[in-house]
Order: sequence, then C-alpha cells, then structure tokens
Amino acid sequence: MRILFLGAPGAGKGTQCKRLAAKLNLPHLSSGDLLREAVKAGTPAGVSAKEFMDKGVLVPDEVLIKMFGEKLGSPACKGGYILDGFPRNLAQAKSLDELLGSLNSNLSTVINLEVDDSLLTERICGRWTCSNKACAAVYHVKFAPPKAEGKCDVCGSDLSQRADDKEELVKARLNTYREQTEPLIDYYTQKKVLVTIQGEGDQDVIFNNILQSLKVTA
Ligand code: AMP
Repeated sequence: MRILFLGAPGAGKGTQCKRLAAKLNLPHLSSGDLLREAVKAGTPAGVSAKEFMDKGVLVPDEVLIKMFGEKLGSPACKGGYILDGFPRNLAQAKSLDELLGSLNSNLSTVINLEVDDSLLTERICGRWTCSNKACAAVYHVKFAPPKAEGKCDVCGSDLSQRADDKEELVKARLNTYREQTEPLIDYYTQKKVLVTIQGEGDQDVIFNNILQSLKVTA
C-alpha cells in the first residue's frame, strides 16, 4: 500500500502514521522528521531548510522533491510506504505524480485527518516528544501526560518540545496549511483516492477507522 496522510499540524498524523507503519510493516516517511534530522546533522539540505522551519513556512519545493525522490526510488519503499507531510502544496503533489509515474506507481489511498481549528493550537502547544529518536513517544501536557514530568514513560529519556511547537509559530504554520496544503484535499478528491477520517476523540477509535477505510482487519 502507498498511503499519504493529509491534515493540519496537530491533527495527529504523526501518531497515527507510526501506529499504521508498525501494523502494516511499512516505512513511515515524515517530511518534518527527515528535515529535522537534516538540520541536526548540518547537511546542505538541513542548513537551507532551517531558516524556513524557524518561521513556520514551507521549505523550498526542490529540497523536498529531491529528498523524497531518493527515498521513494529506494529498495526500502518497493513494498509500499506511508507519506506524512509530503506533498504539502500543489507543485509538490504534481512532482510526486511525475515521480510515481516514472516508477509505474501511484498512491493507493490519501487519508485526510480532520480536526476542528479550536483543538489544533491546544494540541500542538502542549505536545512533548521523547528525545530518544529510537523511541520518539509523544505526550501531551493535558491529554496524555507522562507519569513523571519531563521523562518518557517508555524509556525514561528526557522529553523535549519542538522549537516550532511554540505558540508564536503555530499560527504561521496553521496559515501555511490553510493556504498551501488544504487545496490538496480537492486535488486528491478529484483523483478519487481521498478518504476523510475524523481526527478528534479516542486514538484507538481513530486508528480503527483508518484501518477500516484501508480494508485492513484490526
Ligand atoms: P511538520 O513536522 O510536518 O509539522 O513540519 C515541520 C516544518 O518542516 C514545517 O513547518 C515546514 O517548515 C517544513 N516542512 C515539512 N514538510 C514540508 C514540505 N512537504 N514542504 C515544505 N516544507 C516542509
């Protein structure tokens, strides 16, 4: 299966993608995670991406198109994958179509996780993540607090907040989503591959709804 997740920042894409990737044994390709790794490693792509990420706006298309071109053509993605955060505008979606066409492939399903605006900011600003990359468990100060403040329940590592999850940047990220990414809902509706899943409420229920939409048994 070749699945793409759409949804605003805070819609829960990362959490659901991780669960789905484990369930289906597919690679989870998160553009945000890949960019943050590139920034940390100080690669040329990371250096050029940082100034855009720090402002909550999109990194230039060519950086992402190159990054995902390499990934999707690799043997690890032969059996399918879960895309999270790429494409994020129409130009990227069209480049992805070209890339998939050159690989004789296409997207099986696009899942649009829908969450009301009023919840998104609260979800994002309270989000803390385990700093141990192999674990990367996600917590929320109100909705899913860790047992010990600042420590991961799973592996005991320190929790950290993403630099761009601070309130002053969240507004810019949500605007970017509305202006540039939301038009992809129409784009994939027209291609008849889009399903919309309510992203509010119990995470297990949301996950089961995703599995159902993919016709996968829970
Ligand atoms: P995320 O973790 O998906 O919220 O992404 C964090 C930041 O990475 C975004 O605010 C953008 O600056 C950048 N980013 C992630 N994916 C893309 C993309 N497909 N195109 C451009 N910039 C991106």
